[in-house]
Amino acid sequence: MNTSIMWFRRDLRLADNPALLDAVTAGDGRVLGLFVLDPLLWDRSGDRRRGHLAASLRSLSAAMNGRLVVRTGDPAAVVPAVAAEADVASVHIAADYAPYGERRDQEVEGALSCLLVRTGSPYAIAPGRVRNQQGNSYLVFTPYFKAWQAHGWRGPVAAPSKVTWVRADSDELPDSDVDGAGEQAALKQWHAYLDTVREYADHRDRPDLDSTSRMSIPLKYGEIHPRTMLSELSRLRSDGAQAYARELAWREFCADLLARNPDAAWKPLRSEFERMQYDEPDEQFDAWCAGRTGFPLVDAGMRQLAESGFMHNRVRMVVASFLVKDLHIHWKHGARWFMQSLRDGDIASNSLNWQWVAGCGADASPYFRVFNPVGQGLKFDPDGAYVRRWVPQLRHLDGKAAHEPWKHGGAEGYPEPIVDHAEARLEALRRYEAIR
Ligand code: FAD
Repeated sequence: MNTSIMWFRRDLRLADNPALLDAVTAGDGRVLGLFVLDPLLWDRSGDRRRGHLAASLRSLSAAMNGRLVVRTGDPAAVVPAVAAEADVASVHIAADYAPYGERRDQEVEGALSCLLVRTGSPYAIAPGRVRNQQGNSYLVFTPYFKAWQAHGWRGPVAAPSKVTWVRADSDELPDSDVDGAGEQAALKQWHAYLDTVREYADHRDRPDLDSTSRMSIPLKYGEIHPRTMLSELSRLRSDGAQAYARELAWREFCADLLARNPDAAWKPLRSEFERMQYDEPDEQFDAWCAGRTGFPLVDAGMRQLAESGFMHNRVRMVVASFLVKDLHIHWKHGARWFMQSLRDGDIASNSLNWQWVAGCGADASPYFRVFNPVGQGLKFDPDGAYVRRWVPQLRHLDGKAAHEPWKHGGAEGYPEPIVDHAEARLEALRRYEAIR
């Protein structure tokens, strides 16, 4: 009797999962669903990601009649061992294009005595596929986006109608107290969001309105595939739906850049930034992590991150800019803190966005454009509601006053600004001039 293995990784769902359909075909309907708890990844993930992953695995296993097989260890040892135990002819995966995942899959492939079959990826278009007429990949987002749209993608596929999930010894599923993880929760969240997506273009930059989708979390774990989302967006005509699809393209652009430049996970894409002078993380870095810089929007963002494992995109840009251009600390320290704290922490989106803000990415914001942390607050949180929500010490200040407590008698228990922004900006520009 045939059996195949579906090795789940960043695709914790049954619907719109072409690798699973291939596993079902290859196994004549008999599939062993495997997840490997890789200590290397598990130890590096913060509590938020571990909690979500554990809840998502529980949900996936429930959808498989409790038959998800979880094994702990190095995938290059575990996957071949399970393949030999179950005597399978093929192991099926969605291709991973991040540096560690790609290397790991090559090692597993080398150690297996059966086939490792890659079908699909966590993206609508696999990294490396979108090319210009000369066959080169893109360094700038807008032309990438146009080519990405022109390339198009396949429609979503249904969940397999009949699978016999094969039993095997399994480790205990890790515990979790996270609610709202898993494929059904992701679909519910997405369909509820679609009812409001028409407002996305107007509201997406406003952290106070809390009006973005938070779909980065289910996308991170593959509880939903972007193709499913793009297919539903394509039926809508609103500017909001189009703006949303463009953001999904940013996710794909980041993955494309990282797949072509694996060092970009922690090193600048623009080589002149190797010479940039940065300060070592010190007590100012600790203040940034703790949301105690004395700049209300920065502190609100860092406290939102600590308390909820999430931060609004506009605020991510502001806190990142503050770390690099006001505190003059290398973006990799901030990126590492984000990876430990974010529930949606994703190496491609995280590092490439940090590089964008730090001015050293391929298509980055010019280094000399330094965000004013107070100005950003006044513009994107015009009534101060976001800042008051996350910084209780500022709740007595009405409206915009919450962004400038020093002008309104200060705030008890809230720090004075740890730097003079105007001076810090000049210092950032001076250091930039030195590497140009
Ligand atoms: P929405 O506004 O609802 O956007 C819809 C989807 O589009 C998102 O879920 C996401 O998949 C994608 N998207 C939106 N903006 C971006 C972007 N700039 N880059 C890539 N994809 C985008 N995103 C992560 O998923 N993981 C990270 O670790 C991460 N780190 C970041 C670090 C910094 C410094 C910055 C500036 C941005 C980072 N982002 C990261 C991108 C973005 O901030 C988040 O994807 C977004 O805030 C998630 O919230 P949402 O789902 O409500 O977004």
